[in-house]
Amino acid sequence: MSPQRNKRVTRQRQLVHECVIDRKDHPSANDVFAELQSSGIGLATVYRQLSNMVDEGILRSFEHSGQIRYDPLVTPHAHFVCTVCDKIWDVDLPENILLTAPDVSNVDIEGLELTWKGICESCK
Ligand SMILES: [Zn+2]
Ligand SMILES: [Zn+2]
Repeated sequence: MSPQRNKRVTRQRQLVHECVIDRKDHPSANDVFAELQSSGIGLATVYRQLSNMVDEGILRSFEHSGQIRYDPLVTPHAHFVCTVCDKIWDVDLPENILLTAPDVSNVDIEGLELTWKGICESCK
C-alpha cells in the first residue's frame, strides 16, 4: 500500500470508528453512511471498515429485520427490541445464562443471542 493510500484508509477507518464506537442504537452500515455523508466516504468503504472491525473484535454484528446491525458493546449482553418503533436497547443478560450452554457433542458454541421483545416507554 502506498503511503498516500495508507493515510486515506487510516482516516476512513478513524471516521467510521468514531461514528460507531459510542453509539448505543446499533446502527446499520446505512445509518453510519448517512452520518458520515459530509465526509465524502463511500458506502462500500463504510461496509468494509465495519466488517474489518467485526473481524478484529472491536464491534459485534447481528441481524435485525433483515439488516446487519453493529454494536460497540462486545461483552455478553442481551437486547430489548421495541416491536413498534424497532429501536434496540442493551440490557443485561440474566445471571448464569452462560452456564446453561447446551452440552452437545461435536459442536463449538460461539455465543448466545438473546432478544427480549416488547413495547418501549415512548410507544406505550
Ligand atoms: Zn418504541
Ligand atoms: Zn447491544
